[in-house]
Amino acid sequence: MTDTIFSKIINKEIPADIVYEDDLSIAFNDISPEAPTHILVVPKKAIPKLSEINEEDENLLGHLLIVAKKITDENNIKDFRLVINNGSDAGQTVFHLHLHILAGRNFGWPPG
Ligand code: 5GP
Repeated sequence: MTDTIFSKIINKEIPADIVYEDDLSIAFNDISPEAPTHILVVPKKAIPKLSEINEEDENLLGHLLIVAKKITDENNIKDFRLVINNGSDAGQTVFHLHLHILAGRNFGWPPG
């Protein structure tokens, strides 16, 4: 796949406000937050979107949820929404898989 802005953040070629990092993942504040807390959890493996995962990614995907829990626990965030946009019609703009953690306000349902 072609490099995305998230690959550049992972490789420290461009800056980001990093809140968590380990061997498999990195998490940083969204540059254009949609809520008081808006953190992106990104696997270092460059998977373009959720529909392109395969079975070998099972542990990695579970890991991303564990990271989301660590981040929310550490920030004492009790209520939050997790979002994965898959494909441009669903709102995906960066084609490197990522999980949005959104918190700090009320969210409507169904989502817009
Ligand atoms: P998507 O629309 O693909 O689900 O989410 C991409 C997210 O990445 C958007 O919320 C957007 O604001 C964020 N984003 C795009 N470019 C950058 C960047 O350079 N730095 C950071 N921190 N976030 C970015």
